[in-house]
Amino acid sequence: MSKSKSSETVKVVVRCRPMNEKEKAAKFERVVSVDVKLGQIIVRNPREAAANEHPKVFTYDSVYDWNSKQIDLYDETFRPLVDSVLLGFNGTIFAYGQTGTGKTYTMEGVRNDPERRGVIPNSFEHVFTHISRSQNQQYLKSTRRRSKTCSPKTRPRRLELRERPDTGVYVKDLSSFVTKSVREIEHVMNVGNQNRSVGATNMNEHSSRSHAIFVITVECSELGVDGENHIRVGKLNLEVKDRPRLVLRGAAQRSHEDQPVAFCSGNVISSLVDGRSSHIPYRDSKLTRLLQDSLGGNARTVMVANIGPASYNLEETLTTLRYSNRAK
Ligand code: ADP
Repeated sequence: MSKSKSSETVKVVVRCRPMNEKEKAAKFERVVSVDVKLGQIIVRNPREAAANEHPKVFTYDSVYDWNSKQIDLYDETFRPLVDSVLLGFNGTIFAYGQTGTGKTYTMEGVRNDPERRGVIPNSFEHVFTHISRSQNQQYLKSTRRRSKTCSPKTRPRRLELRERPDTGVYVKDLSSFVTKSVREIEHVMNVGNQNRSVGATNMNEHSSRSHAIFVITVECSELGVDGENHIRVGKLNLEVKDRPRLVLRGAAQRSHEDQPVAFCSGNVISSLVDGRSSHIPYRDSKLTRLLQDSLGGNARTVMVANIGPASYNLEETLTTLRYSNRAK
């Protein structure tokens, strides 16, 4: 993959959340500045000992500050990827960063609030609006939930990866459902999430560590100029955050667990961002192996690095930013 190709297909965006009430009350300093025009995040070290240090500057495809609106992120950054899925390409969207920096807010947001709903509900609306407006095309939409399925009082079941020449890598024993509306697809997602939380409340902190992918497959049959029907299949992989874990530990507790990446192995992210390495280490983890037809190549990926603005998060913020910095 050449460098230019990789920057078309792999986008890295950074979003800095607002100071929360606690941080404001404790009068934490803001150490992060966001230059939307230049796509830069500037981080200042507030310690006296670092008074002569230059601020650190990191460059990305786009950056979003604490005033950014969910719909602006969707329209500028996610909509083009979902459009390409509707055209038959594969795409993957995921968020990473320290706990409490806004991954869930970005991916899911506040579901029943149209202004604050995140990329997952926005993509549901987008896909079904597109389908309802389409003419001369027949859509068969199936969603496939791929997650760690857990059963109460037992250890999480190990999911087995299998490979078939026609469909590629898949997870054994997972269900997929055809859905015809936003309501139906939300229902599939909710049922899947419930299956996970039942298990998680019975697990200890370490084993509750799990990530899940919600896979939407869009199949479209279209009559071509040759008079034959042609089938296009696009796949959208969305990371689903593990909510129960936050409840278990309490949102205030910080953890390195999500660091530096929630979902792909650090090596995979670095080689995707870098674009110069021809070998992407998909076998690093089950999840990345599962996604190998959706990362790199013709597939598009948007990675959102979430960070917090306050001084006490400085080290974690720098780690997250270094991982995905474009201008290395
Ligand atoms: P994470 O999933 O990374 O652990 P959350 O998404 O749960 O973090 O965010 C932590 C808190 O900050 C939540 O209360 C969330 O609503 C709030 N928050 C995060 N990002 C934003 C944002 N861009 N605008 C407003 N509130 C945000």
